[in-house]
Amino acid sequence: MILPQKHSFTGTTIFTIMSALAQEYNAINLSQGFPDFPIDEELSALVAEAAAKGFNQYAPMAGLPMLREAIANDFKSRYGIDVDKDTEITITPGATYAIYTAFSAILQPGDEVIVLEPAYDSYIPNIETNGAIAVPVQLTAPDFHVDWDKVKNAITPKTKALILNTPHNPTGAVWQKSDWDKLADVVRDTDIVILSDEVYEQLIFDGQQHYTVMQHPELRARSFALYSFGKVFHNTGWKIGFCIAPADFTTAFRRLHQYLCFSVNTPAQYALAHHLANGGRQPVYKMLQQKRDLFLDLLSQTGFSIYKPASGSYFQVAGYERISDLGDVEFAQWLTKEYGVATIPVSPFYSNKKDDKLVRFCFAKKDETLRTAVERLSKLNG
Ligand code: PMP
Ligand code: GLN
Repeated sequence: MILPQKHSFTGTTIFTIMSALAQEYNAINLSQGFPDFPIDEELSALVAEAAAKGFNQYAPMAGLPMLREAIANDFKSRYGIDVDKDTEITITPGATYAIYTAFSAILQPGDEVIVLEPAYDSYIPNIETNGAIAVPVQLTAPDFHVDWDKVKNAITPKTKALILNTPHNPTGAVWQKSDWDKLADVVRDTDIVILSDEVYEQLIFDGQQHYTVMQHPELRARSFALYSFGKVFHNTGWKIGFCIAPADFTTAFRRLHQYLCFSVNTPAQYALAHHLANGGRQPVYKMLQQKRDLFLDLLSQTGFSIYKPASGSYFQVAGYERISDLGDVEFAQWLTKEYGVATIPVSPFYSNKKDDKLVRFCFAKKDETLRTAVERLSKLNG
């Protein structure tokens, strides 16, 4: 039997490959993006409480009302914006799912979607699975800013959507208010829908503020904004996220969501709702900025080159051109096997596999993990 290949990527994602290799070689895993420190004890206690109190059956399709309300309050207090919990917020099993569902809600075969690369690896398969065509536009190194002329030139009558990500995985770049204004200029006379992947919204450093698409009224009216609790509360394995979109977009989103998964894990939603409402949000950026600084300081004693410290996210990209001539995928595998440190090569984030000899480190790790990892990396210099 021949089954259809719904998108053009035949292999396994680089995150699975590198985490599996790390396990096989007992390497320190700075590859896939997840923390190695525990979640807040209150949050673990709240999941147990939810189960004990009988919150064990299907949640409402859009998500537990108390969680949607806690999110609306949180957006009001952090960004000063009003979000309608009933018509604009949908709880999802993670942001990856929310991105796929948003694409599926709007795309028809033959539509084009502009993807700013390097890009998170699910975007293009999601676009292609819907019969649409990804149109990559490369960000400009070393700060990975958007070249707006390139974006303008990529727009055709078939362009249905543009997906962006800030703070950015893998480069740690952060959009400024001026980027949003440029985006508004570029899409103003079109029907282009924006997917704004803001999963790292709270991981932003050096006193900067995340500017969300929700704060830009003109763009907000044509956007799906996608979020993940996993990045904020260090619980990536819970796979809970949410989508905020105008009421008509949310209706289209839920039209699919109700038949894709119907509803999301109830005890986890209960726990997140209470944790948020209790003000349980740690200023996660402070802890991660310290980790970024520690990691950069340690890495400066190795042969890796840092072109730009991460402004946001929990990833740092580094060049290894002084260490090896290998391609980045081979280099990452070699490093895992020979030096016991797993990273993510950057070329898989480009559809043309552009190899600039860069690897991505995840620094959301205990200080001792970072120190041991860099101790191993420092041996690379001889
Ligand atoms: N977008 C980006 C840019 C990410 O790095 C991730 C990380 N997993 C996601 C979306 C997906 O988040 P989730 O784990 O909630 O599916
Ligand atoms: N977002 C995380 C990363 O970029 C994990 C992604 C995944 O495993 N699919 O590493």
